[in-house]
Amino acid sequence: QDFNGLGLAAPLLRALSQQGYSRPTPIQAQAIPNIMAGRDLVGIAQTGTGKTAAFALPILHHLATHERPAPRGGCRVLVLSPTRELASQIAESFRSLGAGLRISVAVVFGGVPHGAQIKALARGLDILVATPGRLVDHLDSRAAHLGKTEFFVLDEVDQMLDLGFVKAIRRVVGDLPKQRQNLFFSATMPSEIAKLAGDLLNDPVQVSV
Ligand code: AMP
Repeated sequence: QDFNGLGLAAPLLRALSQQGYSRPTPIQAQAIPNIMAGRDLVGIAQTGTGKTAAFALPILHHLATHERPAPRGGCRVLVLSPTRELASQIAESFRSLGAGLRISVAVVFGGVPHGAQIKALARGLDILVATPGRLVDHLDSRAAHLGKTEFFVLDEVDQMLDLGFVKAIRRVVGDLPKQRQNLFFSATMPSEIAKLAGDLLNDPVQVSV
């Protein structure tokens, strides 16, 4: 199977061939059609399986086929990631796979000044990749609002729980619209994570590789 059968928008197929990706990895083959069909999804997959593109491609396809202005002070797609390095890598994947689309992507994490992040939020973003603590700061100060968010992605959930982010995650979720599509990725699924998934997701498809 190659990428052509998945129904992805042409600019995405061009980006894939530019990156030298010729066929979907197993997590991509399972996840992409379900996400494109609008389903919530739990993906049990390690880093290195291609899971970033497994959520980035169908999200970018949605943005390409449902054009609307990026909401000022907010985002259409929110991705939470445990560390600044992972957040930056995810943003880079969205930028490279989305190179043929007109999309705005920003990363927000702690340990750096707030100013540039506040400016990026104020302009409005298609895709915001954030670590939980700094995003909560921006929500508390009203620099960010999540009322227009269509996709919510939680990546490396087990790592986020190890880092003590459960409370921040629940705070963020409280600000999201009820009507949204949720994607949840973790390398492992202990009971605490299964419980969080049960609370956040709506009738999810589960895929594991
Ligand atoms: P990830 O699991 O998202 O960290 O991705 C692991 C690596 O696989 C990254 O360096 C990607 O660029 C690469 N990758 C993702 N999807 C594909 C694909 N379909 N074909 C070849 N490489 C890929």
